[in-house]
Amino acid sequence: MEAQSNGYAGRIAVCPGSYDPVTYGHLDIIRRGAKIFDKVVVAVVNASVRKNAPLFDADERIALIEQSLTDVPNVEVVKFDILVVDLAREVGASVILKGLRAISDFEYEFEMNQLNRSMAPEVESVYMMASPMYSFVSSSGIKEMVRFGGTVDEMVPPHVAVRLAEALKSQTSS
Ligand code: ADP
Repeated sequence: MEAQSNGYAGRIAVCPGSYDPVTYGHLDIIRRGAKIFDKVVVAVVNASVRKNAPLFDADERIALIEQSLTDVPNVEVVKFDILVVDLAREVGASVILKGLRAISDFEYEFEMNQLNRSMAPEVESVYMMASPMYSFVSSSGIKEMVRFGGTVDEMVPPHVAVRLAEALKSQTSS
């Protein structure tokens, strides 16, 4: 395979999202991606126009992801504030990797795909179907469940569940 602009010879995929916080659904896609690509760059969006203010700041979201993937050597977690296609070029990625849940993600991803393709035709988007047990897992749903006393142990790693409970408790008491 030809060396890329950053000198890395393997195929790199960038996996963007807000990860507020990371869930087993995200981790499933990242782990599956890490088996296919030489490297997966998990890109944590600093601020999003699509979503409200995040519960966790970007550095903490990054730390929670890193703590969940200590056993996967070919994953790197970065923060970004630019277009995903520009980030892909910056890190030498030829692929944007995304997870698709039920039908809800399709319309948004379809639109983003057209936009990204027009800006960077050399960057291919690849979609992985969510595993059935995580098809209805979303960061926003999890936050709502924890806020109302629900258990999310099957949807997020233990260290994420602990931080979620703490963060939502301090939010309601302030
Ligand atoms: P969320 O909607 O949970 O806040 P993000 O904006 O962080 O998620 O999403 C980042 C990427 O991860 C998107 O491609 C999204 O479709 C994917 N994703 C999120 N949750 C899951 C899941 N449970 N299974 C598979 N992919 C998922």
